[in-house]
Amino acid sequence: MRRRRVSCATVIVMERTALHPSVMVFTRDLRVRDNPALIAACEADCVVPLFIVDEPLLGHPAVGVNRIRFLLDALADLDRSLRLIGGALVVRRGDWLNELMTVVEACGADVVHLSDDGSARAKRRLRELRSRAESSKVEIVTHPGVTVVAAGEVLTAAGTPFQMFTPYYRRWIALRWRDLAPSPRAIALPSGIDVGSIPSLEDVTQRRPSPRIAAGGEVAGLDALRTWTAGQLARYGASHDAIADDATSRISPYLHFGCLSPLEVATRLRDRPGGDEFVRQLCWRDFFHQLLSSRPDLAYADMHDRGIPSGTADESFAAWCNGQTGYPLVDAGMRQLRSEGCMHNRVRMVVASFLTKDLDVPWQVGARYFMEHLVDGDLANNQLNWQWVAGTGTDANPHRIFNPIRQSERFDPDGAYIRRYVGELQDIDSKSIHDPSPAQRARCGYSAKLVDHAAAIAHYRLRRFGP
Ligand code: FAD
Repeated sequence: MRRRRVSCATVIVMERTALHPSVMVFTRDLRVRDNPALIAACEADCVVPLFIVDEPLLGHPAVGVNRIRFLLDALADLDRSLRLIGGALVVRRGDWLNELMTVVEACGADVVHLSDDGSARAKRRLRELRSRAESSKVEIVTHPGVTVVAAGEVLTAAGTPFQMFTPYYRRWIALRWRDLAPSPRAIALPSGIDVGSIPSLEDVTQRRPSPRIAAGGEVAGLDALRTWTAGQLARYGASHDAIADDATSRISPYLHFGCLSPLEVATRLRDRPGGDEFVRQLCWRDFFHQLLSSRPDLAYADMHDRGIPSGTADESFAAWCNGQTGYPLVDAGMRQLRSEGCMHNRVRMVVASFLTKDLDVPWQVGARYFMEHLVDGDLANNQLNWQWVAGTGTDANPHRIFNPIRQSERFDPDGAYIRRYVGELQDIDSKSIHDPSPAQRARCGYSAKLVDHAAAIAHYRLRRFGP
């Protein structure tokens, strides 16, 4: 990389082309800590820390408004952090590639730094960027930072990506991870640059977010992580399935947008009590990312054809979305999703199993609905977890079925989680709340069961295994 030892501010006035600032284009790495792309960009005398609001992408219905809300918070937070060290976030709106190249050309940058991202969309975008940049002699440099270990770094002896979690985990945990990148101490913007502005939610969408979603940004993420680590990490192994306790970290949206560095979280927590179980969960995230990176088609296509004929989405799908299936745990989860844009992991498994097995709806339909509502909606984690539950994915037991009543009795024994989200069941005793009688349902105005679980599963098994 060429480095200039001159003051940006002075030289840009004299001769714009004599200056070669670097451009740091933020994508899913909205943080200043442990951001290898940002620190590399800071080696130049001045930097354009850029975010492009990709308007065509934000207009897509699968990009849920909850994620847009969180993203805008994260951008405002990043801007504040950059201003504290002399910079600012430069914001542009429109087509990602065109806007980026316009900025590169306008400021005369000769290098663009960005985080490597294994998603199909990011890879395609990078290819297009490289081909556009080649003719302008602009160097494009990618850096790690989206996952703990980069996709493609942990491979089988045959040099292929792992398809099963446990062997992947063994290799992943034994690997020497990269060192954390230092935080930049100062950032100089090219003088006179128009920093633009972060749009408001109303500027980018007419849709309304869920009423209670977490605030986005690196500062909020670090606060959430610190508080949770102090109070809960040591108990993580024992408590992460206690649905009503809400004892998991809730950092998934911060990881999705890169407000937290997954490597920093894993490095700092792995040797603390409870850290090994927690870091194992972070490994699931890396595992699914490397899998989707090697097989982008898994976002839509079954990983294994288990011979399960697809059903169709009918009015029972609407009842599932609205939390009116008559199964209290399923309904509580779906109502939590609507009001908070999130759902406990165990409940995600239960509602996904209910949709794909009891209601016989293809996993892709449920996955899409999740992506529209989850603040942490993440193509790799979402689609591949749906496949895991549906029995088409990486699960070694493809015939797993979650009984929504047994799961409720076991993981929400007092019914506290159900009461939090299903108002009709407030006054039902802890024993009956998992499966109220028809008389109790009629008294409190709660739905009858949409299907009988045992009969629905018998039907599913019949279709799967034959008579
Ligand atoms: P914690 O228990 O505190 O775990 C810490 C971190 O580990 C999580 O933030 C997450 O990054 C990672 N992690 C934990 N469990 C998993 C897992 N099963 N797969 C991958 N990573 C995991 N997670 C998403 O981030 N985005 C999604 O869109 C998503 N969709 C899902 C859909 C279904 C049907 C299921 C069953 C799971 C899905 N998950 C998804 C995984 C998991 O439910 C969430 O990561 C977790 O609930 C987030 O809460 P937490 O941060 O408190 O988790």
